Amino acid sequence: MSSDKIMDGLTFDDVLLIPKRSTVRSRKEVDTTTRLSRHIELKVPIISAPMDTVTEHAMAITIARAGGIGIIHRFMTIEQQVEEVLKVKRSESIVIEQPYTLKGDQKLRDAKRLMSQYGVSGLLVLDERDRLQGILTTRDIVFEHDPEKRVSEMMTGTKDLITASSDVNLKQAEEILRKHKLEKLPLVDKNGKLRGLITSRDMLSLEQYPNASKDAKGRLLVGAALGVKSGHLERAKALFDAGADVLVLDVAHAHSDITLDAIRSIKRDLPEANLIAGNVATKEGTEDLIEAGADAVKVGIGSGSICITRIVTGAGVPQLTAIMECTEVADQASVPIIADGGIRNSGDITKAIGAGASTVMVGSLFAGSEESPGMTVMREGRKYKLVRGMASVAASYDRSARESEQNGEDSAIGLIDYVPEGVEAFVAYKGSASELISQLAGGLKSGMSYCGAKNIPQLRGKANFIKISQAGLKESYPHDVEVM
Ligand code: 5GP
Repeated sequence: MSSDKIMDGLTFDDVLLIPKRSTVRSRKEVDTTTRLSRHIELKVPIISAPMDTVTEHAMAITIARAGGIGIIHRFMTIEQQVEEVLKVKRSESIVIEQPYTLKGDQKLRDAKRLMSQYGVSGLLVLDERDRLQGILTTRDIVFEHDPEKRVSEMMTGTKDLITASSDVNLKQAEEILRKHKLEKLPLVDKNGKLRGLITSRDMLSLEQYPNASKDAKGRLLVGAALGVKSGHLERAKALFDAGADVLVLDVAHAHSDITLDAIRSIKRDLPEANLIAGNVATKEGTEDLIEAGADAVKVGIGSGSICITRIVTGAGVPQLTAIMECTEVADQASVPIIADGGIRNSGDITKAIGAGASTVMVGSLFAGSEESPGMTVMREGRKYKLVRGMASVAASYDRSARESEQNGEDSAIGLIDYVPEGVEAFVAYKGSASELISQLAGGLKSGMSYCGAKNIPQLRGKANFIKISQAGLKESYPHDVEVM
């Protein structure tokens, strides 16, 4: 091939957004509402990556409350992943339709186990015909030490319990909670059967998180990842049934027959599911995933911070060019692009969206936050968290160990042939992800105002970039001073 056939490829640091006249008077006027998939909108275009050091339920809850969405990683059993999804779906809602319950003849030890397993401070007590008998909260058991004591002896029974009818409206429920200073309001039908639960925490959360990403029942949005190997359909169905709002087909090189087949089979069996597929980095890849049925396409080959795909395989496309190329065809089908990997700051988010993405997926930037499942370590007096590529040696070893255990095999080794495409790393501890998201969203809004955009459609793909030199890049960072 002659050199004039070689395309130029650019990434975030190669460019800057050219400032334009702005009519924005305050960041409050800037609207970051965007499309996650063909059918789902988010108020904040940020997604946390399905990595085992980034997204489980705690991260997904925080991100959804802030207006984005978290994708629960797939490196666990189907049951565990379903439980993670349920934890997010149950974390808040207008009405919790299936609150956690137990029976009156169960014991203190059962109650303690369930409370800790589900992370709740109260359980509703039912009789054998699902009629409400009472409520057991941590207050009822704090001074109880006999693990064999029956729940019915410790609970607050219906005689002293305030309940509401299952057709109560939000305003009435709020009034009852306030008047009686209640934390929990069980809903029952005329036969005394439990029909749901409203909590004061959920009411508060409505005011506290106005941008929260929610489904029609007021539950937080959550996504869940799956692979393409055998069993993917079973996992997809279980996650969909558990209420996952999007399924993410998470494949390193998704422009492959096996991925296209998997998209078709999921769409055939679960036509209602919102399916994100990726990763690709070309027009052809995007086109094929859309044709197979993807509702959003994830773009990024070798762009991740913990990724060594480009070094190990020589393959990849610099991320800004990849986004622009893929957007060109995705726009024709009105399918959103997710820019996955390489986001280090809010400026990168503005650039990714300016290039055409509708949302960005973030891995290691979130791995340092409190809510990530990664291990915390101290080094030279400073706190760090561990982040690892899902194709790193350690992640693959753990995966293989888990699979061996499930299959009743002795040993997990089998990695001699394994060629890692990811690394393990430390990231500085950053506190709560909610602060981080508000910094990122704030920076994006400022960036949009520099581009003269009041909303995402005005920024998306319409920004003008200028290519910069190494000297330009150096000038962009603090220079010729000693940063404190
Ligand atoms: P980050 O935000 O950390 O720059 O990138 C996160 C993205 O990197 C993930 O969403 C995923 O697409 C990608 N990724 C995660 N683990 C690996 C890995 O081990 N190898 C490669 N090539 N990419 C990875």
